[in-house]
Amino acid sequence: MYNPRSMKATEFIDHQEILDTLAYADAHKDDLQLVDAILEKAKDCKGLSHREASVLLACENETRLQRMYDLAKEIKLRFYGNRIVLFAPLYLSNYCVNGCVYCPYHAKNKHIGRKKLTQEEVAREVIALQDMGHKRLAIEAGEDPKNNPIEYILECIKTIYSIHHKNGDIRRVNVNIAATTVEEYRMLKEAGIGTYILFQETYHKESYEQLHPTGPKHNYDYHTEAMDRAMEGGIDDVGLGVLFGLERYRYEFAGLLMHAEHLEAVHGVGPHTISVPRVKHADDIDPSAFDNGISDDTFAKICALIRIAVPYTGMIISTREGQTVRERVLPLGVSQISGGSRTSVGGYEEEERPTDTEQFDVSDQRTLDEVVRWLMELGYIPSFCTACYRESRTGDRFMSLCKSGQIQNCCHPNALMTLKEYLMDYAAPETKAIGEALIQAELQNIPKDKVREICADHLQKIEQGIRDFRF
Ligand code: SF4
Ligand code: SF4
Repeated sequence: MYNPRSMKATEFIDHQEILDTLAYADAHKDDLQLVDAILEKAKDCKGLSHREASVLLACENETRLQRMYDLAKEIKLRFYGNRIVLFAPLYLSNYCVNGCVYCPYHAKNKHIGRKKLTQEEVAREVIALQDMGHKRLAIEAGEDPKNNPIEYILECIKTIYSIHHKNGDIRRVNVNIAATTVEEYRMLKEAGIGTYILFQETYHKESYEQLHPTGPKHNYDYHTEAMDRAMEGGIDDVGLGVLFGLERYRYEFAGLLMHAEHLEAVHGVGPHTISVPRVKHADDIDPSAFDNGISDDTFAKICALIRIAVPYTGMIISTREGQTVRERVLPLGVSQISGGSRTSVGGYEEEERPTDTEQFDVSDQRTLDEVVRWLMELGYIPSFCTACYRESRTGDRFMSLCKSGQIQNCCHPNALMTLKEYLMDYAAPETKAIGEALIQAELQNIPKDKVREICADHLQKIEQGIRDFRF
């Protein structure tokens, strides 16, 4: 029985409720009066229910589709402006005891090289990332209690925060590791992590069990209830995601929004981010083996509708997507992208991308500097901001500031100041020239006079060599 307040996975992600939602959406997708009413409601930026958003997803009327895209762009501009936050994944270990059939690190893959970084290697990877200009990382590791116990993860986090190479430092470490216990989530919180990210992969329980035939991840309920344990352990910011291509996308979309509704109902705060990865080619993995792949058009529609349905939740696109798709979805609501990524263990130290040990093929292979320049040429402000987490603006404190609209007075100047740091310390001459002009123009767009003055002063101080200003 569907109950968003329940702590049982099969009740807050109730299979029958999803089927009923899809049937309701099919029955009403051509009811343009209803579609218009839902779009009208969405304009208030208070979000939509999974049922309402599912009707929009099913609707194929061209005019309404255009309105969905326009509205997504409007909401994106209102809450996120033209800023895009940059981050990089850091793979610590590809040892894994699970059997996920879509991932090359599954335990039965005997020909892939297994590697776990030592603390010296972690330090070298972090230096390489700092030398690119990164300030925000998402660490990744397979599930393996022997090789990658929580103590190993905690040690790596400590090492990462301790490295200060030249003007570099990593100011926020997000963590993407397997579902674990409240006690271990508490340890991660104490280690100072930012967001805890765990992809659901699929909300469809039967498919989930088939796609995860062996290992602890096979347990759907334990996996689906992980975010509740993370929040119980004190982690305020959690990141959801599904791997599109595994199951029917409309099922996943409804499940994802129900999960967000559950977190809001129980903890009073929805997900901090939603990621939208698609199944990609990798060693031992052929994406065509999964027959629920989605087209670029559907992908764009999903991104737009996530933006409309959960306006306060950040949306992340990784380098799984190539430049063209990224360009298409950026204005529809994406707030964070990775850049210059390597998806193998120890990849940042290598001259060439070690393609045979990557978790997935990287479609966008440009350097971070190329990505920064490209964003600016498209009219975005690349941001390396990590201020909220460091000012303890997490969970409901972050959400209430975000909902009040006041976050704009932080994000915009923080984007300019962190971009300035990047330009001073890491940018190629051409990138620097474009960036300096952009900062001067965007400084005028800070709404509050006082904030603008302080920001201008900080920008000067950054030129003099001082770092790490934030609002
Ligand atoms: S997706 Fe994660 S848990 Fe599954 S095999 Fe890959 S690394 Fe292991
Ligand atoms: S001020 Fe907060 S919400 Fe805005 S970009 Fe920085 S960390 Fe993100």
